[in-house]
Parts: sequence; structure tokens; C-alpha cells
Amino acid sequence: MDDERKGLPTASPWASYELCAGKFQLEQEANRIGQSAHVSSPEADSGTRIHAWLAGEKIELTESEATTAANLKERGDWQVERIFEGQEYKQLREKRLWLNLDGKPALSGRFDVVSYTNDLALVQDYKCGFREPDPAEQNAQLKVLAVLIALNLPTVKEVIVQIVSGPYGITEARYSLSELSAAYEEIARTLKAINAPDAPFSPSPEACRHCGAKLICQALKDTVIGPLTRLQMSALPADGPRAAKLLDEVEIMAGLLKEIKKFYAGKFEDPTYTIPGYAMAPGATVREVTNWHVARKRLEEFIDEKELAASETYSLGDIEKALGRKLKLKAKEAKVRLNEILAGLIEEKQNSPSLRRVRGEAKLASLEV
Ligand code: SF4
Repeated sequence: MDDERKGLPTASPWASYELCAGKFQLEQEANRIGQSAHVSSPEADSGTRIHAWLAGEKIELTESEATTAANLKERGDWQVERIFEGQEYKQLREKRLWLNLDGKPALSGRFDVVSYTNDLALVQDYKCGFREPDPAEQNAQLKVLAVLIALNLPTVKEVIVQIVSGPYGITEARYSLSELSAAYEEIARTLKAINAPDAPFSPSPEACRHCGAKLICQALKDTVIGPLTRLQMSALPADGPRAAKLLDEVEIMAGLLKEIKKFYAGKFEDPTYTIPGYAMAPGATVREVTNWHVARKRLEEFIDEKELAASETYSLGDIEKALGRKLKLKAKEAKVRLNEILAGLIEEKQNSPSLRRVRGEAKLASLEV
């Protein structure tokens, strides 16, 4: 359990609590019995480092993390200047605030940065990922943060909330005092629903995507079993609404299957743990160019500029194909030639190991989920 959160609900998963009231308690149960899903991911770890840097901590970032962090800071700071227009303001960063109900802590939220005067507060939430965030107007996490700020800065008459994202820009919503009061009532209702002993479960791709209870949730497993049994009996539906329903179910199913694999992969951190026939197999070796500016200069001798520009993502596979076409080389020869041209500029890296069957054959009599 995260001590700072005291095992109580927090703002960040609020949208999923609104969608599935049972999630909060079941996640706690999953945590208690050591069956939590989504414990961490490289993307989440990178996001944590970027947030720490933005909060002023001395953190060593990778080149791409440093670019993301600098862009987010520049965008966010520009918004602060725009909103306060030369007025003096104060700032707080990365602080956890609490909402009390009946005199007891009931919910907390940690904001990235809040800038405020006596009358106005601007809450900014930096988003580092590539998944499009819910816009500020519909963002449940920001609704909770707006209320927490209003409760903790009682002189403010308006709270502005902003999502600050690299790929998706800025979205903004404004909460007047009456809107803050309505939001408070909504939050209190959701809190009551998620703490109820019979809080219902409502599986959906949005609710289940980051749910830590995925591995033990019967409602989700029942949703997964539906399409599996129907697929045994009939052809795939062609009509739009049924196809959409099936695809939603498949997304939920895919998330569960991925987490089952991650769960067992995590078990291999214990060197004494074994699964017959399975092991963490080394990841594929990938090539990366260390200096694209120099590489491009060298490649321009062989591939014309237009074609190089077409592979703007600088995929070595695409460049190899273009080189093969130009020099009339087969795939393997093109690879060798490219390695010669870019000698000293290519670095080999190994992808993370993954859980795979390495011996014997799968014996599938039935699949129980
Ligand atoms: S897996 Fe889905 S249905 Fe189950 S608790 Fe989590 S969000 Fe709710």
C-alpha cells in the first residue's frame, strides 16, 4: 500500500471509479493477495521521472525525456503568463491535498503545479504519454483537483484547470463557485458508491484499461468468456453495432491476456520460480543510429533526398529497402551494405526479455479465465 495515499481513493483514476464503482475495493483486494495488475511499466517510470524533473528535483533524464520535459514546461509557463497577465501570483508544485468527509480523510489528489492569487487558481496537469488524455472539460481527475484546490484555497472564486500535453496541446476548463459546489456533490456521490459494500462492477475498455484488479475480476472474466463462446459457434458479425461490441470485448480480453503474461513474467524475478517449458527469452537485437545528422549526409550519396525524406521516421528497415532498390541488392546484401555505409554510427541494443515457451509443446485442453 502507498502510505502517502493512506489506502484511500485518489484523483487520478477518478474517471474509472465513475464508470465502475467496484474497482476501488477490488484493487485493494488484488493488492492484498499479491495479484495486482499494472504494477509499473517503462512508460509510467519515464513519466514519473519527467514529473519529478518538472517539480524541480535533480533527476537525470534521457535525451527524449529532457525534450519532453522542456516542451511541457515551456507550454505550461506560457499559459501561466497568459492567464495572470502580469499580476503577481504564487506557485505550489506536486502537493497532495485531502478532502475530508464527516471529519475523516476520504480522498486525496496530487497536482503537478498550481499558480494562484487571492481570487483565481490555475491547476496544470502535465501529460507525458501518447494516449490522448480526456480534455479538461470532461476530465474527472481535474474535476477532483479543482475541488481540492478550492477547499484548500478558500478565497479563490474561480479555478481554471488545464491539461498540458506535448502531442495534444492544451485543453482548459473553468469552474465557477457554483460549478465547484456541483462538482463537490458529484464527488461525494461517487465516494459513497465506491465505498458501498455491494459496489457494482461495470466492465468497459475505458474502466478496465488501467485497472489493478483485472487479474481477479470475475465481471471482467465473464465479459471475456462471452465473445470466446460466441466465436466458437458462429461467423464474425458484419453489422456495425455488433462488430463494435465484439471489438470492445476483444479490447478488454486483450488487456486481461497481456496482464496475465506480465504477472507470470514478474514471477521470474524470483530465480527459484519455474514454469515447465517457459522462460524469459532474450529480446530481439535492434539497431539504432547514434547520429542521424551524419548518417543522413552519408546516405544522401546513395539515396536521393526525396526518398530519404519519405522515410522520415528513419526506420532502418525502410532505408535498407530504399538502398536495395537503388543499388539492386537483395535484402541481406542491402543490410550488409547499410552497415558498411553507417559504420561507427549504428549501435545494437537488446529489447527486454519476454516470457515465452522455450521447450515442449502447448497442451491446451481448455482455457479457463
Ligand atoms: S477489471 Fe473492470 S470491471 Fe473489474 S473492477 Fe476493474 S474496472 Fe471494474
